[in-house]
Amino acid sequence: MIMTEVTNKYDTLVIGGGISGQEAALNLAEMNYNVLLVEKDLSIGGKMIQLSKVFPTLDCAACITTPKMSETARHHNITLKLYTEIEKIDKQADGSFDITLTEKPRYVDASLCTGCQECEFVCPQIINDHYNYDMVGRKAIYIPFNLANPKIAAIDIDNCISCMRCVKVCAPKAIDFKQMPKTYMVNARSIVLSTGFKLFPATGKPDYNAATLPNVIDALQMDRVIAPTRPYNNVVRPGDGKAPENIAYVLCAGSRDSSIENKPCGADCMNNPICSQICCMYSIKQAQLLMGALPLADITIYYMDIRAFGKGYEEFYNQSKGMGVNFIKGKVAKITANPNGSGDLIIRYEDVHSGTYKEAKHDLVVLSVGVIPDKSTPQLFGNVNLELDDFNFVKQTDPLISPTLTSIPGVFVAGMASGPKDIPDSILSAGCAAAEVASYLQVAAEA
Ligand SMILES: Cc1cc2nc3c(=O)[nH]c(=O)nc-3n(C[C@H](O)[C@H](O)[C@H](O)COP(=O)(O)OP(=O)(O)OC[C@H]3O[C@@H](n4cnc5c(N)ncnc54)[C@H](O)[C@@H]3O)c2cc1C
Ligand code: SF4
Ligand code: SF4
Repeated sequence: MIMTEVTNKYDTLVIGGGISGQEAALNLAEMNYNVLLVEKDLSIGGKMIQLSKVFPTLDCAACITTPKMSETARHHNITLKLYTEIEKIDKQADGSFDITLTEKPRYVDASLCTGCQECEFVCPQIINDHYNYDMVGRKAIYIPFNLANPKIAAIDIDNCISCMRCVKVCAPKAIDFKQMPKTYMVNARSIVLSTGFKLFPATGKPDYNAATLPNVIDALQMDRVIAPTRPYNNVVRPGDGKAPENIAYVLCAGSRDSSIENKPCGADCMNNPICSQICCMYSIKQAQLLMGALPLADITIYYMDIRAFGKGYEEFYNQSKGMGVNFIKGKVAKITANPNGSGDLIIRYEDVHSGTYKEAKHDLVVLSVGVIPDKSTPQLFGNVNLELDDFNFVKQTDPLISPTLTSIPGVFVAGMASGPKDIPDSILSAGCAAAEVASYLQVAAEA
């Protein structure tokens, strides 16, 4: 049975449909709990669906995650609400939560759309495709990405010129310009926060000049460039489309760094003293993939320390050295344009081994940007206070013994919402959150 209607009462509300939210929802659904999964984007998938391959096995990220996305979208105990914002959560006297949700209009009837894309083909409006880091265009009516689940179109109303070409070609008559935002009130006995993370903005280190140098990109953009669902068939640098021959990675760009505050670079620019845990490994992964895609290219990784902490990670690091990736222990101080106008870049760095400042030329620089918290998560709660930790991630009140407990009884945290984690650790924490929820619901039922 596929349950699509929103009922009023749920055992658990899971907020965020990334890999952690899907795992927590599926675990609870398999235990026969009735789960509402709310995702603010048009598809579930989170950051993982954007990735190329995953360290240390180099399995295709989409191949691993799409079966889980399908299972989540189709499970009879999971109700999925996409493109939906949580307005407010209030705790009730009986310990349950009243939740106000607003579902934004897609202007396409989800129950009729077949995902055929005929509307996309005829729509004349082309805008930047944010899923692909604006490297290619998309139409005003669009399927969010080719592996989206569910595969349903939506209209970007701000860029629609109301030409009605899509309406004419849509055989099931799914397009509905009369849709309005819908607000629901639901009740849940427990909550899993799996709201994930944000990336430190590439422009957050003004000395790296990412705002003005098009050939300074961030690592998620590179993951898109080398993904099987990539925007182009070749690896090219954004500035001029040249195939790069000498690529640099700058590790700890916005991690382990307390020199950022008060620089004029926006709300997400903050001191970030912690290690983001994933950047060393995703950079080594990308270096290996690039050596396959560009066999003649030189790849240099500038690092402070290499933190290859997981099972098989040290071997993966050593393998990249064996493949010819050049590792330089040195903190990068500045990135500037090569004055010859070639679009190439000059990296100025401190070579720790010789104790000297050096310069090196590269034609593409990838900033291995860090993980930062979404500080807005506590604002979801009305009459109860969700505490954050010293680094603004959701506070784990008992991090050693019960790492998914939060400051609110009945609210649990999974995945990156409580701090940096790779995919295996995010999945582990989601499984742990589901087990804690089940035991909480059991105890509450017996009380
Ligand atoms: C460049 C890069 C490469 C990586 N490569 C690897 C790798 O090779 N191997 C590996 O193990 N890990 C890798 N990672 C790490 C991996 O991406 C994370 O471990 C994983 O995505 C964490 O999943 P999550 O579900 O906790 O968070 P996310 O993926 O961030 O998902 C959170 C979800 O919650 C939704 N959401 C947020 N707030 C709300 C709200 N208020 N209401 C509703 N929905 C909300 C978001 O839209 C999103 O869908 C990489 C990360 C990056 C940046
Ligand atoms: S809106 Fe209509 S034309 Fe567009 S994908 Fe859906 S069914 Fe196809
Ligand atoms: S009505 Fe809007 S979405 Fe439809 S084809 Fe025209 S511009 Fe595109």
